Amino acid sequence: LAGAEAPYLKGLNPEQRAAVETIDGPLLVLAGAGTGKTRVLTTRLAHILATGKAWPGQILCVTFTNKAAREMRERIGHLIGGVVEGMTWLGTFHAIGVKILRSHAELAGLKSGFSILDTDDQIRLLKQIIEAAGIDEKRWPARQLAGLIDNWKNRGLLPARVPAGEAHAYGNGRGAELYAEYQARLRVVNAVDFGDLLLEVLHIFQDHPDVLKEYQRRFKYMLVDEYQDTNVAQYLWLRLLAQGHKNICCVGDDDQSIYGWRGAEIDNILRFEKDFPGAKVIRLERNYRSTPQILGAASGLIAKNESRLGKTLRSERDDGDMITLRSHWDGDEEARAIGEDIEQLQRKGEKLNDMAILVRASFQMRAFEDRFITLGVPYRVVGGPRFYERQEVRDALAYLKITVSPDNDLAFERIINVPKRGIGDTSVKRMHEHARKNGYSLYRAAEAVSQTDELPAKTRTALRSLLESFGRWRQALQGLPHTELAEIILDESGYTTMWQNDKSPEAQGRLENLKELVRSMGEFETMEGFLEHISLVMDTESNASEDKVNIMTLHSAKGLEFGTVFLPGWEEGLFPHQRSLDENGRAGLEEERRLAYVGITRAKRRATISFAQNRRVHNLWQSSLPSRFIDELPEAHVEVAPMANSYGGYGIGSYGTSRFEERTTPFSNTYDTPGWQRAQRAYAKGEAMRSSPHIIEGQLVARETEGKNIARGARV
Ligand code: ATP
Ligand code: MG
Repeated sequence: LAGAEAPYLKGLNPEQRAAVETIDGPLLVLAGAGTGKTRVLTTRLAHILATGKAWPGQILCVTFTNKAAREMRERIGHLIGGVVEGMTWLGTFHAIGVKILRSHAELAGLKSGFSILDTDDQIRLLKQIIEAAGIDEKRWPARQLAGLIDNWKNRGLLPARVPAGEAHAYGNGRGAELYAEYQARLRVVNAVDFGDLLLEVLHIFQDHPDVLKEYQRRFKYMLVDEYQDTNVAQYLWLRLLAQGHKNICCVGDDDQSIYGWRGAEIDNILRFEKDFPGAKVIRLERNYRSTPQILGAASGLIAKNESRLGKTLRSERDDGDMITLRSHWDGDEEARAIGEDIEQLQRKGEKLNDMAILVRASFQMRAFEDRFITLGVPYRVVGGPRFYERQEVRDALAYLKITVSPDNDLAFERIINVPKRGIGDTSVKRMHEHARKNGYSLYRAAEAVSQTDELPAKTRTALRSLLESFGRWRQALQGLPHTELAEIILDESGYTTMWQNDKSPEAQGRLENLKELVRSMGEFETMEGFLEHISLVMDTESNASEDKVNIMTLHSAKGLEFGTVFLPGWEEGLFPHQRSLDENGRAGLEEERRLAYVGITRAKRRATISFAQNRRVHNLWQSSLPSRFIDELPEAHVEVAPMANSYGGYGIGSYGTSRFEERTTPFSNTYDTPGWQRAQRAYAKGEAMRSSPHIIEGQLVARETEGKNIARGARV
């Protein structure tokens, strides 16, 4: 092969090329946004295949989203020509984890048909456990426990290994005990949660050297994208697996680490050279994505962070426009303005697909969705399983899940009396007791109870009939096409009829969603395959070929790029988000700033940052201040838009706090200014609604607690 240049290598710069061709031994590619890290990873994979170094099934390649995995699969096909079959191990950590766990379920105390709980199911299960333990769920919310368990799992900790100090964080020291109970309960119902997909695989590797060896042997090459956001459990996985062939390539950017709140450890990057002796590190410095203006703004902002490795980044593109900065009266006006921009760009021939609105918090999305519906601008919401979250869809899925695996308690409980068939709470409680006493699932308890006279005769009949139906449907799994069976299930169970008889305005929409659900099943070969897909989709399945504006959170925009990017809601408290500041102080602020950096660097040609002076949060109007990040943008790259403000008079500067001139009390990045301290004190005493100060009429104030309308702060 020497001498003959493969076509897929053309166009790479020398450093990129080195990264592609260094395929043996550990390699870390550490580089800023848009420098071609993902492109290098994809090309490298193609190179390994093209040079015959490994079969597709011998390469482990981790992406951050399912969507990224799909795109990579396609691109590899383009690079080496034709469709690549057998890339079994290309996917997210979770998708790879579920595959490994299915083959070794028994080692984790599971049966291979185990189901995967989503957050909603997880919370319901925890509530039961909390109640059974005699703990007041109002005082100790299930969500809090879920958060703790998630955190432990992300760090690879089984209940027995939870540090004593941390177990105290819940229910007067009963955190670890409830975690253990939860794990036991999951086994009984033959289910796992998302964290288990990492944790259980990790423990199988640790406890079963023969299994680990098998995978170490199999994975000749390992590639990991977005390495800066791996958590401890994932990191340990990789380290174990890489001890086989030691051919691991990780690409990442410390400035884009934005999942610290979910356990990601930026240290994983710093440890790489130590953990993989002889590791080579390649840096990429040319940014091919964004104009110098956009890159300059982003670089100036991220330079304010103290904890960073620091790197050089220069744009390979022509100069372009400055970043536009805009002020609005409120969120609706912001949405109107962005809607107008989008229509204008569209008239100029730009594609909606190439535009994105990136929000800090998902509640911000609604204003844009409403606006686009009014304007008739097609849009998609990326990153949330919106459709699958709807009540009717979840109910229908519960029926299908039980048909496939009867031991799914949460699914069973969800629909046991939906539609109403006379099986009330008392009866369900009775079944729960049975289940707990005998250590089996609710479904089995129902079978047992339906044969005794513990339940009223009418309830018993209803229960028997339901169980018979499930038995019949389960048998049909083999014989009937799964979409047909799904329709039968929804009809025979009375579920479709329930909505047909419903007179509420939403009923029609719900029936349409049920149809859509069955339709979407057709893309899968089996019902099991479909259900597995549902548990894994984090990205909304939206047809990328349709021309639509993208709406998503900053977090889910990672790795993506768009010609035009809108960044609304740059307001103190919203962005940086108050919770990050309150919970994590300076580290929280730096993570928010990285998020801002991720946001700006998604743009190729055009970026608009905006903020609203008034924002309705949970039905309360709050006046807001421009984000400190706006102040931190280098002026040379930012252009303030003229006040296109229908209410008149309220543009930037109306607070006397403009980033450019006379802010009376300058925002500083520290939390120990007198203003912050005063605000914190007021907050603690319940006198202020938020713990951050606001500047109103040149005075540092905190918000009134009941603050009916805008802009009238209580002096602190
Ligand atoms: P991020 O940090 O945001 O994930 P990245 O480093 O992964 O970014 P890519 O998404 O791989 O960057 O690349 C950014 C853009 O630059 C893509 O459109 C890619 O096709 C393009 N690109 C990368 N390398 C080159 C190159 N050598 N020549 C031309 N374009 C390139
Ligand atoms: Mg990338």
